[in-house]
Amino acid sequence: MSWEWHNSGSLNYLTVPKWQAEGIDLGFSTRVGGAGIVPYDTLNLGLHVGDDSNVVLENRRRWFDQWGVPWTRVVVGEQVHGTDVTWVKEKDGGRGARELETAIPAVDGLVTQSSLGLMAFFADCVPLYFYYPDLKAVGIVHAGWKGTANKIGQKALECFEDAGGRTENAWVAIGPSIGPCCYVVDERVALQFKSNFDKTPFLRPQEDGHYLLDLWEANRMVVLETGVRPENINVAAICTADNPEWFFSHRRDGVRTGRMAGWIRVRSTR
Ligand SMILES: [Zn+2]
Repeated sequence: MSWEWHNSGSLNYLTVPKWQAEGIDLGFSTRVGGAGIVPYDTLNLGLHVGDDSNVVLENRRRWFDQWGVPWTRVVVGEQVHGTDVTWVKEKDGGRGARELETAIPAVDGLVTQSSLGLMAFFADCVPLYFYYPDLKAVGIVHAGWKGTANKIGQKALECFEDAGGRTENAWVAIGPSIGPCCYVVDERVALQFKSNFDKTPFLRPQEDGHYLLDLWEANRMVVLETGVRPENINVAAICTADNPEWFFSHRRDGVRTGRMAGWIRVRSTR
């Protein structure tokens, strides 16, 4: 599995030790250790879900402190369930860290060669993490079913390739999200995958005309077919809907729930 649970003060999070050893801070937060109250209890890190913004900012402060990173060294994108991925530059430092208005608009993927921390938000959608050792570049992508069906993972890999990155050397980590155990979708969703993929082994038909959708496997197939080596992909295989004590889940909890953060940063560029 290669992902591990970590505890730091009041915070619990998931990381990949192999990436940490390479100098890449990679994290996925849990709902534990925050200041929030029901239904955002307790570590909601999303400013866009109706929670008290002062509480969210306190929660973010705890998250950034845990990584030793100031607000000015963090960048957030808007997230619109699209497929746009953008390069983040030094001048973007601080965008979206404290308020929604300054986030980079209409992007679901951020990539950078700077040492800025990239943060995205999740409550069932799939966090995809990228590292290109030859570029010392990292990225994070928000892949819900739409982004997955439209292969946003491939879009991110192509960004790195455009900058001279070699995808056969790329590392990809697939974080916690709603799993194939819990994610029931209808024919409309299934059709998007059937029209965009040659094979759809990640769709399991149910007797009532619905399907169980494995977003982990679909995203793994996308990055494999773009040229990532299977041994360089780390899948957490942890279901957000199945673990209410650890994670918010949009499918399980409804609209009024919190968000976990996906976090990635090159710890040292030296
Ligand atoms: Zn599940």
